[in-house]
Order: sequence, then structure tokens, then C-alpha cells
Amino acid sequence: MTLYNEGVKCYNLYAIAMNVCEPGQDRNVAALSFMFMCGGLLNMKRQIEYMKIALEEAQLAALEDEVPVGCVIVCDNQIIARAHNQRDKTNNPLGHAEMLAIKKASEVIGDWQLVNCELYVTVEPCIMCGGAIIQSRISKVVYGTPDIKGGAFGSSIDILTATNINHRPKIIKGVLEQECSQIIKDYFKEKRNINLKK
Ligand SMILES: [Zn+2]
Repeated sequence: MTLYNEGVKCYNLYAIAMNVCEPGQDRNVAALSFMFMCGGLLNMKRQIEYMKIALEEAQLAALEDEVPVGCVIVCDNQIIARAHNQRDKTNNPLGHAEMLAIKKASEVIGDWQLVNCELYVTVEPCIMCGGAIIQSRISKVVYGTPDIKGGAFGSSIDILTATNINHRPKIIKGVLEQECSQIIKDYFKEKRNINLKK
């Protein structure tokens, strides 16, 4: 049924695309470029939807008085793991959202190699999580807001510039950046206010 619906959507899109060409332009070329553009928009929409779920996880972290970072791992368009920062709650320096999500995803797939997986996280991963992302062979990382102090994909350091590295995930940044940044700012603002009242 899903395949049928996708087929209908595809046919409709192509039908629209065939009617968008400029005068004198080849209809097939116009249709293909239109569909390419639509593909980009659909992909962007998809990234936003997954980032919204990562933000839900970040909210859960905030409710547990943890730094609000949330993560989702997607494989074949299905969410196979979601997690939020649990470092304080578990007294575990490894308890970052990405580390917990990678562990869950590996258990779900039954393999330490997550080659067809995409990782969505609200904040740019740190060096530890960046290392785990490389080790687990995750194919794509989408993050919300950069982390100037600790971001390992370009903001503080870029671990992908290491020579002879055996895996380089594709990195996409800035998806729902404002929302992902705001939740962190709100958390630390509230922390400061509580400390001032003490
Ligand atoms: Zn981390």
C-alpha cells in the first residue's frame, strides 16, 4: 500500500513537472530539474521532522535536569533509536545522547556497523561522540546548533580532517538551529537564576 501511494505521488509529481517548462525548454529536462528540486525540498522536510523528534528527546533531558541534547537514529526511513543526555542521572561521562542512541541502534540492528544509518542530534557532537560516529560507520550526521567550545565537526575541531581516517560521514548542519540553540540557552538561563536565588 505504501509503495502504491509513493508511486501515485511520484506520478503526480511527474505530471506537474511536465507542465513547468519554460518556452523552448525541453519538457523532460524541465521535469527532471523540477523533480530534483522537489526531492531536495522533501529531503529538507524529512530532516526537519526527525530533528523535531530529537528536540522532543532534548526536552525530556531538560525535564530530568540534564543538559538538553536529544538524538535520533534513522535506518531505511525508520527511527530505530532515540535517546537524550543522561550524564548526571547515571554519573556516566559516556552518557551523551549520541552514545546512548548508537548503542541502542546497534542492539536493534544486531551489528556494530550502522552503515545505512543517519544520526540526528540537536547539538554538534563532541570529540567522543564524533569518534563513536566514525567507529560505528554511520553514513550521515545531521545536527542543529554548532558547539563552539566542544563541537568536533568543525566548530572547535574538525576530526574529519584527520589523515587516513577510514570513514567520513556526510555532515549536514543548521537544521532547526534556532530551536536547538534556544532550548540550551533556556536551560542554562534557568540554572543561573536558580544559583542566584541560593
Ligand atoms: Zn558527546
